[in-house]
Amino acid sequence: MPTGSFFTHPYSHPGAVRCAVAIVGGGTAGCATALALARRNVADVVVLEAKTALPAFRIGETMPPTSGLVLRRLGFFKAFQAQGHVESVGSCASWGKPELGYNDFLFDPHGCGWHLDRPAFENLLLETVAGRGINLLGGHHLRSIEPLANGGYGLGFDTGNGVTHSLEADFLVDATGIAAGAVRRLGVVRNPIDSLIVVFAVVELDAADAIPSQGFLEGAEWGWWYAARLPGGKMTVALATDLPTLSAQGFRDAVAWRSALRHTLHIAELVERGRPRWSGRQPDTAVAESAILSRVVGSRWLAVGDAASSYDPITAQGLYKALSDGEAAGEAIAEFFDSGGGTAALWAYQDALFGRFTDYLRLWEYLYSREQRWSQAGFWRDRPLRKRFGS
Ligand SMILES: Cc1cc2nc3c(=O)[nH]c(=O)nc-3n(C[C@H](O)[C@H](O)[C@H](O)COP(=O)(O)OP(=O)(O)OC[C@H]3O[C@@H](n4cnc5c(N)ncnc54)[C@H](O)[C@@H]3O)c2cc1C
Repeated sequence: MPTGSFFTHPYSHPGAVRCAVAIVGGGTAGCATALALARRNVADVVVLEAKTALPAFRIGETMPPTSGLVLRRLGFFKAFQAQGHVESVGSCASWGKPELGYNDFLFDPHGCGWHLDRPAFENLLLETVAGRGINLLGGHHLRSIEPLANGGYGLGFDTGNGVTHSLEADFLVDATGIAAGAVRRLGVVRNPIDSLIVVFAVVELDAADAIPSQGFLEGAEWGWWYAARLPGGKMTVALATDLPTLSAQGFRDAVAWRSALRHTLHIAELVERGRPRWSGRQPDTAVAESAILSRVVGSRWLAVGDAASSYDPITAQGLYKALSDGEAAGEAIAEFFDSGGGTAALWAYQDALFGRFTDYLRLWEYLYSREQRWSQAGFWRDRPLRKRFGS
């Protein structure tokens, strides 16, 4: 089960040991990097993850059709298909105007996208990593990094109850998500572009079949709403806003949040169609940052996934990026070893990642500039980049 303690693969050592590659962070990007390294026969790779078990739910479920290509190349697409994620035929948005517009995957050569059972997906990634014989250590929270005189890094992990574990690595991968917890310790700067607070609830539906398989998006005065049907007769309903709006409107409170939901033109009616059973709990929150590191590679290290660059969830590209950057990272590290320490592939990885971030910023600017209905409201007034940075 996805919520169970998965990290069963044995890798225990009494003291410090050396490995070829230490991947800190066992999320999508860390696992994809490990699988790409295994494909290139790079031995002695260790994935070290702070968590000991996966949570029952994690927000971030929409995966675009192109992701299927990476899953195929990394060798677990069939197992993924067997998991029963909701196949999504596209998205539907009230953006810049009250009417809904449709963006269908009908003509996408890669087929449908998906609304994931996210913990099940992450569990499959971890299982696949362990199944390829890669060492996987749960309950390992990175606490210290020390560059070693003979190259590589000495890493210190907190494993709970005051116990620590040390490990030396020839090469270090930071896959710790927006924390960028490894490379920040090396002094690398993470540059924030924007930050959203997403206030969300997962609701059980009595009539899940009444909800179409598209993702729904709607601009509103306080931010934008998002709703998607999930596997298991559930639905995620989310408001992406910013901290000042959240505080001023009190959206951490279920009453205020649901009142704002009721004022939407489409999302409220859509959710009602599924006959939701509201739990009465307060909504949850998650921070969604747009940010990039000043460098994503360095001397025997590399950052991948959200640790390297993170996107606004409106693009729904984070998972695809984690998978495809993970694949590219694994290839670049394999080239580094194969070439006896040549860094050309690492620099090419960085150039490509920076190029994609520039493309992302253009897309971000374009998307937010197309919603002008509340341009004087705080959330929307602050969004366009040109206003934030005067460019
Ligand atoms: C509200 C919200 C909605 C989103 N919606 C979507 C969506 O619909 N579609 C989409 O594609 N993307 C979405 N995303 C983005 C997506 O979730 C991320 O891009 C993706 O999770 C990045 O994967 P990752 O492996 O880089 O990081 P993560 O998934 O964050 O994994 C990092 C791992 O590192 C571990 N870790 C952290 N610190 C340490 C440490 N010190 N030591 C050891 N381990 C550590 C963590 O426990 C975690 O398991 C959304 C994000 C948010 C916040």
